[in-house]
Parts: sequence; C-alpha cells; structure tokens
Amino acid sequence: MKTIYCDHAATTHVKEAVLYAMLPYFSKNYGNASAIYSLGRKSRDAIENAREKVAKAINAKTDEIYFTSCGSESDNLALKGYCYANSKKGKHIITSKIEHPAILNTCKTLEKQGFEVTYLNVDKNGFINLDELARACRKDTILISIMTANNEIGTIEPIEKIGKFAKLKNIVFHTDSVQAIGNIKIDVEKANVDMLSMSGHKFYGPKGTGVLYVRKGINFDRIQDGGHQEDEKRAGTENVPGIVGLGKAIEIANYNLEFYSKKLFNLREYFINELEKNLGKQNIKLNGDRINRLPGNCNISFKGINSNMMLKELDRRGICASGGSACSAGCGMPSYVLQALNLEGEYLNSAIRFTFGEENTKENVDYIVEQIKEIRKLK
Ligand code: PLP
Repeated sequence: MKTIYCDHAATTHVKEAVLYAMLPYFSKNYGNASAIYSLGRKSRDAIENAREKVAKAINAKTDEIYFTSCGSESDNLALKGYCYANSKKGKHIITSKIEHPAILNTCKTLEKQGFEVTYLNVDKNGFINLDELARACRKDTILISIMTANNEIGTIEPIEKIGKFAKLKNIVFHTDSVQAIGNIKIDVEKANVDMLSMSGHKFYGPKGTGVLYVRKGINFDRIQDGGHQEDEKRAGTENVPGIVGLGKAIEIANYNLEFYSKKLFNLREYFINELEKNLGKQNIKLNGDRINRLPGNCNISFKGINSNMMLKELDRRGICASGGSACSAGCGMPSYVLQALNLEGEYLNSAIRFTFGEENTKENVDYIVEQIKEIRKLK
C-alpha cells in the first residue's frame, strides 16, 4: 500500500539536494569548526555560508543568526535568555494560550523563577485581540511572544501589527515562526520582529537543527554553559552537516516560496471543497481562519466521528494525518488549542489535521476523500 503523507506540520522529509549538500560534512570535511587548520576552516566556512542563507531568507544580518539544535531550544533560548538578561527592567511577559509547548512550558519555568506571564485569549478562529494585548501591557512588561502561525489550526497571527505595537511600547517582540518559515514570507524588518525561532525539519531540512534570530543590540544570556561557539551564546560543537542542511533547505524554500505556497493553497482549497461536496457542509467544520491560515493546513472536524478512530482508519489506508500537534498526538486529551477556540464537544473530539507538502497531489486528495466517505460508514 502506498503511503500518503499529510503531516508536514509534524515534520518533512529531507530533500535530496539538502542531503547531498550535507554528506561531505559527515565524512571528508569532518573538522571541528573551532580548529585553526584548514580542515576546521572548511567547517567554519560552511557554517558561515549557511548563516548567510538564513539571514537572507528573513532579511536579517548574519550576526543576528544563532544556530541551535531545534525549534524548542530556540524558543527556550529566546525567552529564558532574554528574561534572565533583562529582569532588572521588569518581570512580566505576554504570550497567548495557543502557543506551542516549547513556549508555554518555558513560561511555566519562568513563572517558578519569579516572572509573571499573561496568556492572551484567542477568538474562535485563533486570533489574539490587539486591544487585549494593549490592555495586558504593564510598566514591567519586557517581552511579548506570539507565534507567527499556529501548528494545529494554521491561523496566521497579525505579527506586523504586534511588532509595530511592541516597538511603540519599547517591548521586545519574539515570534515562534517554526510553522511559518518555508510556507509564508517572513521579513523581520517589515514585521518589526526582534527575536524569531525556526526549525530545519519543518522545511525539508534535517531534524535536530534550529535557528534563533536576535536583532542586533538586544541583550540575552546564554542558557547553556560551555565553549565559545555562536558568539558565546550557544555552547556546544556545531552540528556542521545539520547547519549546512538547514542552510540549503532555507535557500531552496525561499527560492520556491511563491510557487510552493500557491500549490499548497490550491490543494487545501480543493480538499475543503471536495469534502463539503461529498460529506455536506453541515457535517464538517474547518478549524482556524479560512483566509489567514498556512497554505497547506486543513484542520477539520468531522461531525460524529471520533478523531482517534478516524486516525486509525486513515492509517490502515496508508494516510498519515494527525489529531493535533505531533507532541500531543496519541495522548488522548482534547487539544488545548481547539479548547481555546471554544469549540463544542462534537467538534473538539473529531478534529483531524491534514498538512500538505511538496509530494501531495490532487489524486492524493481524491483518494483521501474517498476513504473518509468509507470510514464514515463504519461508525
Ligand atoms: N514551535 C512550533 C510552533 C512547532 O510547531 C514546533 C514543532 O512542531 C516547535 C516549536 C518545536 O520545534 P522542534 O520540533 O524543532 O523542537
């Protein structure tokens, strides 16, 4: 049976060109990038080349890019690093209720350490309210962290407006762009973003690679002690093949962005229309906003069908989809993101996330719709 992979928000395969770019750095170019001999310098050059590619993709400067081991580490470094370095200015942080656990659990740790966190509500489509954000700001607010796009429902937050507001208030603005990079254009200057997290495996790069962008002049502490790597901000011998892979992946993603995002948008719209046509509009519900959403994200509740049952049946038919984020998949708890949208019970327990990617086709969508029709008969 063929596998139809529709869980690109969980992870993506490594593109062939990315793999080939990485290979020499596992074998013949294995030097430590801190070494002064030429084998080491080759690794250093490769890292700096990747840094340039990342900086170019988001309109940043190379000395604003820090390589990490994943999106979660970037989120930890952004929030803890900034808060520890700036706690004399204030101890209040604003975030939202639908952030990824890498943000929410970091906030919990910071709360235990004496910081205060306001968790903004979201509306039924997953948007934060800018007036609520303004009301939440205090004299001691030092950081706003709002994700660019949600991993479960794909809603794209108004980050340019948040960035403008934060700048006006002189508050640092961090955004978790793990789901956005590779799918939509992000320009840190245009959006007034001060810190941004990304993760290589979400845009056809290798797992175990991440980036934190920090605007020049913003002071943040390292959260891991060790050597002098990454301008003293992230100790540990650099994962050279991983960094090279992430650099290549973001270069390709940036080059193909318009075409790729249009393709995903078309597949998504085709899928929603086919579902409405075949199952009836009244039997499905698209969770998240229809317009301001990631192009490949389709989070749909199927009235009367339990999502665990649906996922198992989809899996039996070779279809990989997810019930929520990869991190909460399989835990059996209703998604806190869907709960924050105030979904009614029947929609809460029947949501499935399909996230399309480069290998998906209209034929895949037709097959998925056919299978869903069959699965409905089983209930
Ligand atoms: N932030 C968001 C929005 C995510 O979707 C994810 C992963 O799914 C992460 C952070 C964590 O990234 P990583 O898996 O690289 O640690």
